Amino acid sequence: MSKSLFRSPRGTRDILAPESTRRHQLVNRFGEIAERSGFGLLESPIFEDVSVFQRIGASTDIVTKELFEFNDKGNPPQRLALRPELTAGVCRAFAQHRPTVPWKVWYHGPQFRYERPQSGRYRQFMQVGAETLGSDDPHADVEMIGLGLSFYEAVGLRRVRLLLNSLGDVESRSAYRYALTRYLQQRSTELTEQSLATLGVNPLRVLDSKRPADQPVISEAPVMTDFLTEESAAHFQEVQDCLDGLDVSYELAPRLVRGLDYYTRTTFEFVTDSLAAAQNAVGGGGRYDGLVESLGGPSTPGIGLALGVDRTLLACEAEGVLAEVSSAVRVFVVDTVGGSQAVGLCDRLRRAGISTDRAFDRRSMKAQMKLADRSEARIAVIVGPDEQSEGVVSVRDLRSHAGQQKIPEADTVKTVKRLLSTLS
Ligand code: AMP
Repeated sequence: MSKSLFRSPRGTRDILAPESTRRHQLVNRFGEIAERSGFGLLESPIFEDVSVFQRIGASTDIVTKELFEFNDKGNPPQRLALRPELTAGVCRAFAQHRPTVPWKVWYHGPQFRYERPQSGRYRQFMQVGAETLGSDDPHADVEMIGLGLSFYEAVGLRRVRLLLNSLGDVESRSAYRYALTRYLQQRSTELTEQSLATLGVNPLRVLDSKRPADQPVISEAPVMTDFLTEESAAHFQEVQDCLDGLDVSYELAPRLVRGLDYYTRTTFEFVTDSLAAAQNAVGGGGRYDGLVESLGGPSTPGIGLALGVDRTLLACEAEGVLAEVSSAVRVFVVDTVGGSQAVGLCDRLRRAGISTDRAFDRRSMKAQMKLADRSEARIAVIVGPDEQSEGVVSVRDLRSHAGQQKIPEADTVKTVKRLLSTLS
C-alpha cells in the first residue's frame, strides 16, 4: 500500500469505531448523570478571544506555552485561541448572559493544548465537565465531587481515588504564599532550574512539579491547610463532613494545587493507580470564586470539574472494564439482481426504525453474504433472480443459519420486526 500524503497533525488522532462509539457512550453516560442532578447542557464556541483564556492565569502553562492562537481575517484582526479548557468559556458565557443562579451546566467537547504528546497526553483531547455558578455553599462542592464519582462508578472503574485539598481564600493564600516563598528561597539550591523559574512567577505552582529532583523540597514544604482563615477552614470542614456522611472515601492532599491559577478553596483530583504516574489524573476540579469577575461579570462564586474522556477510556482498558460495543446493524439487505429493490427495502426498514445496511457495486452473492456477516447483522433480506420473479424476498437468520424463508416483499418490515423480537 502506498504511503498516504498527509497524516493527522502531531498529538491528534483519528478515532474510528468501535473506540469512537465507546467515547460517545461515555459522554452520554456523563450527560445522563449530570442531567439527573439538574445540570443543563451548554454548547459554547471552540475558540474565544485570547484574553478570555489569559484570565486563567499568567503562570499557567496551558496559557503561556500551550495555546493554539491565531488571528482572524478581520481588519483589525481579532486574536483568538482554541480553548484549552472550558471553565473560562463558561464564565465568559455567564458574564455575557447573566442567567439566574445557581447556574448549573454540563458540557462535552474537544480541548486543545500544545503539549508534548505521549500516551494519554494529546494536543486535542476530549473532556466532559460541569460547573455550578452563583453559590459558595459547600454542598455545591460535594454535589460536584459526587458527579465525578458517580460517573467513574457508572463506567465500572474501581481504582479511582479522590484527592482533596483547600487552597483557601485570598487572605489565606497570601499568608501561605509568603511562607512558601520563604521556604522555597531557603532551599532554592536544591530546586531544578524550571522550578526556580516558576518560583519567580507563582510559588504555589512549584508544588505542581512532577520532577523527581524537586520532590525532597516539596515533600517538606509548608502546607496550605495550616494557613486557612477561620472561614475557609470551616468551609473545607463542611465539605469533608458531607463527604464522610455520604461514605465517600478521599485522601487529603495538602500539596495538591492543580494546574490552573484561578482555583480557591476546594480543589480535587481523581487519580487512578491503573495508569502511569505522569498520566494518572483522569479528572479534577475545584472552586474559582474570582474568575467570573475577572471576565467582567458580577462577583460570582463557582465550582466545576473536568474529566478526561481519553484517559478514562485508557483506565477502562487497564482495568478490563471496557463496555462491549456491538454493531448497531440488525439487518443486511443483499440484492444480486442489481435493480432498485435494495434501495426501497433499506428505506422502508430504516423508516420503520430498524438499523439496516447493504452492499454496493453489484457484488456477487458470496461477497455480499461475507459483508453481511462482517456487519454483525442478525438477519439478511435477500433479493436474487428467483425472488424477483416471484415478487418475494428471502429472509435468513445469519446466526443460526437455520435455513431461510420466502415471504411476500410487502411483508418484509412486519416479518423482520417479528423475527427480531423473537431472536435473541
Ligand atoms: P485539567 O483541568 O488540566 O486537570 O484537565 C482535566 C482532565 O483532562 C485531566 O485530569 C486529564 O484527564 C484530561 N487531560 C488534560 N490534559 C490532557 C491532554 N493533553 N491529553 C489528554 N487528556 C488530558
